[in-house]
Amino acid sequence: MTDIGDAPLWIFDVDNTLVRDIEHPTAFEDALALVETLRVRGRNVAVLTNVGRLSARQVRRVLHDAGFVFYESSIFTAGAAAAAYIHNRMPGARCFLISEGGARDDFVARGLQVTNNPPVDFVAVGADRGMTFQELNFAAKMVSRGAKLICISGSRAYPGVYLGHEDTYIGELSIVRAIEDATGATATIVGKPLPGIFIETARSLGVEPAEAVMVGDNRDSDIAGARAAGMTTVLVQRDPHNIVEFDSRGMDTTPDIVVNDLRELIDRL
Ligand SMILES: [Mg+2]
Repeated sequence: MTDIGDAPLWIFDVDNTLVRDIEHPTAFEDALALVETLRVRGRNVAVLTNVGRLSARQVRRVLHDAGFVFYESSIFTAGAAAAAYIHNRMPGARCFLISEGGARDDFVARGLQVTNNPPVDFVAVGADRGMTFQELNFAAKMVSRGAKLICISGSRAYPGVYLGHEDTYIGELSIVRAIEDATGATATIVGKPLPGIFIETARSLGVEPAEAVMVGDNRDSDIAGARAAGMTTVLVQRDPHNIVEFDSRGMDTTPDIVVNDLRELIDRL
């Protein structure tokens, strides 16, 4: 564990850490204060979010409107991580995408072919509250014909606002489970807490994971994955009702530091 005062890179979760959630983007004052202090003191600040329904550009805009300054190149989403995962295995792969739209931009930016027609190399599933039976059925058909199944992030359910309705919505993992059940295939889940995406985030900013600090509200996604990747982990205790359910896959979920207010960390810089 590196001394947080010396860490050159700080990575922040978004939902329930920087803002209440991406659809209620009210900033937490303590997060604004810490991120601004880090910037003024020359630390690199980045974002790693499991949101796959918005592109990096869209996430940056939401955070900007909430008062946070991040470069688009420092915003890492599960959608972009899934696109990188597929690109690394099959550049230019033909992909059928279930998603609310944001992930499409990340896939196209990686040079993948997003298509609604066979043949399909990968079926990638993100949260999608407008998904039709036809799309679900086509996805299952493509997987049964040999397409690899990718889950973008891995929530079973999440709180949000859709078409003006405040509710809890079925997450991408639950959609993927239906496809697995129909086909007998097993999906690869790309997103937190997969340690690889923490490692890739740090290295793409020129920092080894051991020198980075991860700040998040979720033990099972932020803390488990970052700890396994070798980062120093900070758990900020927010509203427990806003913590999205994830599977830590048996990893250690113990944070190095626990705070109730992120301003507690400013004195240690
Ligand atoms: Mg969170």
